[in-house]
Amino acid sequence: MNQKANREFLKELSKEIGKESLEKWLSRVLVREDDNQQVVLSTPNQFTLDWIKRNYQTQLLKAAKTVWGTKTRLQLEVNPELPTETGDALDPSSQPSARRPAPSPSHPTLNGNYTFDNFVVGPSNQFAHAACKAVAERKARNYNPLFIYGGVGLGKTHLLNAVGNELIKRGPKLKILCLQAESFMNDMIRAIRGEQIDKFRNLYRRDCDVILMDDIEILAGKERTQEEFFYTFNELHNAGKKIIITSDKFPKEMTTLEERLRSRFESGIIVDIQPPEFETRIAILKRKAENEGLKIPDEVITHLAEKIRTNVRKLEGALIRLSALSSLSGSPLNIELADQVVSALLTDGEERLSAEMVMKTVASFYKIKVSDLKSPKRNRKFALPRQIAMHLCRELCHLSYPEIGASFGGRDHSTVIHSCRKIGVGKNTDLELNKHLETIKRQLGA
Ligand code: ADP
Ligand code: MG
Repeated sequence: MNQKANREFLKELSKEIGKESLEKWLSRVLVREDDNQQVVLSTPNQFTLDWIKRNYQTQLLKAAKTVWGTKTRLQLEVNPELPTETGDALDPSSQPSARRPAPSPSHPTLNGNYTFDNFVVGPSNQFAHAACKAVAERKARNYNPLFIYGGVGLGKTHLLNAVGNELIKRGPKLKILCLQAESFMNDMIRAIRGEQIDKFRNLYRRDCDVILMDDIEILAGKERTQEEFFYTFNELHNAGKKIIITSDKFPKEMTTLEERLRSRFESGIIVDIQPPEFETRIAILKRKAENEGLKIPDEVITHLAEKIRTNVRKLEGALIRLSALSSLSGSPLNIELADQVVSALLTDGEERLSAEMVMKTVASFYKIKVSDLKSPKRNRKFALPRQIAMHLCRELCHLSYPEIGASFGGRDHSTVIHSCRKIGVGKNTDLELNKHLETIKRQLGA
């Protein structure tokens, strides 16, 4: 990429977002151009990538189009070899060449790297995987919409794209639109402002056979967007078009979701992805190492899988960072080095015990399902484990009562308070209950 274009790009960008933000967020980003009119921005870590994506994507694209032409597309990727300290990182001559190639642009809105082939299946994600496969192979017409629900970094976006990639492979003429719910919203706002709402509606309602919408939780509280999406949804659904939605929240937990939209989401099939079990974490790490051509000793893999439990993205990040660190510094790839990487990755407290982990452990202890804990079922078989799980969410995860209520299928905070008190008192008088609590806590590593 030529330096002049690069400088132009920065100038354009600073008009859009201001010098200070440019310094803060983009000084550590590497820009290069690949052969398909694609501008690739590499960021040192996922956090920066997410931040840039969330906040500056439109501006970046606008600036890139001004400099490289209107057909330019933008790609963001993580390159852990980039320095994380501020430096002259935008100057490509001062950078190591970006290590990994950009995903092949086989489809404008799909990520070609996310396929069923490289998705590791385990007990935590097998239902979601099976449902996605069925939809991709067009075996399940009534799975519409397919609602995939699960915590951050557990493979929702991966599966969503895998369905798209498989559908395209089987029917190359299929019009597939894969997008973030946020983009839908931004497009809509822009269309309203520019009085182009008809064009917008045509794009979403008529010009697509399959809509894959990622991170729908962002629509919570956005009434106008929900309304538009509701009509889009109905029109597509009535025409028999496929709809797949992902969310990090269960429909019932999205408290400011319009009821009619919620019932639409619940009208197809809802599948969840849980944090992967130890064995699945090992399998994911091994697969990833193999794909990236990394040689990592088994005990280091095991160590990473023990330490990073709730986020596959972090698991992968640790692996890449570890191997980069070892090759850059010449240190042996061992457990000590792994520990350094892990502690740097986990400082933001994300690995704290989550409500999901508590629910999962409690459910498996009582041999019921996590969905039973979230369901309205009130018989004792479910009610007691639910109260215990709520109590532990309070004690171990320090969540607020309304937060706990939301995690348990949208229950009222007064119900949560009642449950926490009941268990709090009960554990001092009921020996068996106390023993159960201790065992579950041990299983949670608390
Ligand atoms: P989410 O959308 O749920 O936040 P992603 O789909 O972005 O999570 O997944 C985060 C990263 O972890 C991606 O790089 C994805 O490929 C990887 N990943 C998640 N689950 C799996 C899995 N079961 N097998 C292989 N890779 C996975
Ligand atoms: Mg995602």
